[in-house]
Amino acid sequence: MKATVIGCWGAYPEKNEATSGYLVECGGSKILLDCGSGVLSRLQNHCSLEELDAVIITHTHADHIADVYSLEFAILILTQIGKRTKPLDVYVYGAEPDSLPFCFPQYVCVHPIRLGVPLVIGTVTLTFSENVHDVPCCAVRLSSEDGKTLVYSGDTGYYQSLIDFTRNADVLLIESSFYDWQKGKMGGHLTAGEAGEIAALAGVRQLVLTHFPHYGDLQQLAEEAARQYDGQIHLAYGDMKITM
Ligand SMILES: [Zn+2]
Ligand SMILES: [Zn+2]
Repeated sequence: MKATVIGCWGAYPEKNEATSGYLVECGGSKILLDCGSGVLSRLQNHCSLEELDAVIITHTHADHIADVYSLEFAILILTQIGKRTKPLDVYVYGAEPDSLPFCFPQYVCVHPIRLGVPLVIGTVTLTFSENVHDVPCCAVRLSSEDGKTLVYSGDTGYYQSLIDFTRNADVLLIESSFYDWQKGKMGGHLTAGEAGEIAALAGVRQLVLTHFPHYGDLQQLAEEAARQYDGQIHLAYGDMKITM
């Protein structure tokens, strides 16, 4: 299993960059986790839109979903000109598909994500955990046939069962929206220290921090996580490759 960071910013993209978007390639399947602003353009550096199999949307905040509506138009046009031969599956947590402004159900099939109902895409099995956020949001655990595991947090505050959900993952890709000095000041997101604590308690092999704030020194996030977790820690960046 291999993941590529398409975008790593919270809220809005920095110049020429993107908010949340992570391409996972495994066993011939190409799965995009979140599709925030800037993702559609940058995704094409790593995956042709003809080849994308599925999109997982953890929640309906714009920094996780904005570009999926432009992606729908891309799928429409690529299908009409004969370059794409199958519909795109989009799985959304926290909103019923018909409440969302998708327009072309014959080209993009939108499905609800249900807790407790694993999803199988090619050879990858995905399970979900209900996060603590100001709109319904899920974390995603992806498991490959050869036993590799990636957990992507989506947006969340700290909660105990996220540790069990994350247990023994090869890679934990986790939001780190705040510095430790902001702990307790804002809900629905993690500080870097909390992200490190979850990684340590869950016994993950590698920690990748993402969903960054637009201020401060991001290196400080890695240092704060390292006070809690003594394994490998990386700060996500656009085009970063993560191999499991
Ligand atoms: Zn976000
Ligand atoms: Zn959010």
